[in-house]
Amino acid sequence: MVNPDQDKFKEECGVFGIFSKESVAPIIYYGLVSLQHRGQESAGISVSNGDYITEKRGLGLVDEAFKDYEIGSLKGRLGIGHVRYATFGGGTLINAQPLTFNCRLGNMSLAHNGNLVNAVEIRKQLEQQGTIFQTTNDSEVIAHLIARSTTDDLEGAIVSALSQIRGAYSLLILTPDKIMAIRDPRGIRPLVIGNLDGDFVVASETCALDTIGADLVREVEPGEMVIIDESGLTSNKILTGKKNAFCSFEYIYFARPDSEFQGKNVHVVRKNLGKILAKNYPLEADIVTGVPDSSLSAAAGFAEQLNIPYEMGLVRNRYIGRTFIKPSQENRITGVNLKLNPVKQLVKGKRVVMVDDSIVRGTTSKRIVSLLKKAGAKEVHVRIASPTVKYPCHLGIDTSSKGELLANKKNVEAMAKAIGADSLAFLTEKELYLGIGCKEGLCTACFTGEYPVPVKSESKSK
Ligand code: AMP
Repeated sequence: MVNPDQDKFKEECGVFGIFSKESVAPIIYYGLVSLQHRGQESAGISVSNGDYITEKRGLGLVDEAFKDYEIGSLKGRLGIGHVRYATFGGGTLINAQPLTFNCRLGNMSLAHNGNLVNAVEIRKQLEQQGTIFQTTNDSEVIAHLIARSTTDDLEGAIVSALSQIRGAYSLLILTPDKIMAIRDPRGIRPLVIGNLDGDFVVASETCALDTIGADLVREVEPGEMVIIDESGLTSNKILTGKKNAFCSFEYIYFARPDSEFQGKNVHVVRKNLGKILAKNYPLEADIVTGVPDSSLSAAAGFAEQLNIPYEMGLVRNRYIGRTFIKPSQENRITGVNLKLNPVKQLVKGKRVVMVDDSIVRGTTSKRIVSLLKKAGAKEVHVRIASPTVKYPCHLGIDTSSKGELLANKKNVEAMAKAIGADSLAFLTEKELYLGIGCKEGLCTACFTGEYPVPVKSESKSK
């Protein structure tokens, strides 16, 4: 069922696009597989043969969505793709992207990563005027705004649509003869440009460029619209005057460690964060362990800094998806059990430091502390390579509602008690900036409550 309340509807996504000399669908497929960590609930590819756009979307991982589908039947030298994870309505194909439509300005297809904070408002206004919505995607709001624009050229219509929306968007728009790649004026979600033997590629992360053998050219700049067509790449700065606010959670948790943003490799940043955590919150312990996979880099940095052996104290079952995918709390707990197993011989009788990248609800940390203690650990100390998550993200990361966030209800001491840890420490916001290696220009709203985009007070408290 379609849920009209988009505030409950948070999406994490990955996008990929290429204009080539050859057929692009197989390349987009591989690009999407390498962005799979950004969304596992649906995948889709749209290509243009120069005259019109064809698309295929499906549920599940990329290989599930395209199972039994002949990828070669998507014919075209330019195209875009999308992987999607959503907290609500995830199991419905209707919300899968790219979203392809026809309007006065032609045939086009949209792939969007990010969340708009005024999508519900705009949607209600449009509905009152008679607009019919097929999905609960923010992307459909953008599509309607483009279609309704009174401007005659597409670029102008897009600028007019984007000037009405607020929030995070890294957006790919495919038309029969070009790809447009646009990043919101604060650059909240990532978007990079690559070059594959002279062909231009755009992707959420550089790991997708590496996978297909493309070189990184640069990032799409905040507020920039890049147009890729037969003649190459052109750039237009379309939205200006906002301070950069790149999502710090991309560095902390979301992105792949082999990706880089702003010239900084994600693994190196996470390792730095682990080192700072060790330097500023040291302790005596026998082993350090990470929580596979997202905190391994921070755990390695922590161990290196204090010269404590880094051990594989927890083993992850690679065939279980993200614990967050399970919709109910009970299922989440089972999910964590299935996912991780402590190595008893390594932890028995030891003082263990468990480094994780973040605590959201506290479910993972609580479960792991208990697993390690059951496995015979003498002490379990938890070190978190980010500040306390106290506020929900409205801009594209699923960090849950305010009431569910452990740090929103408790101070660090009470959190330690709640998760059963012998001690617990987090980074400060200042230490986070230091670890990432910049002085400003990050979104840290989930830690501070200071949203780079004005968020309505009622959504703030959710
Ligand atoms: P929680 O169990 O609710 O405290 O969530 C924290 C754990 O989930 C950590 O181990 C993180 O690696 C992971 N995590 C953090 N943010 C997210 C997210 N947005 N989606 C899925 N997992 C996350």
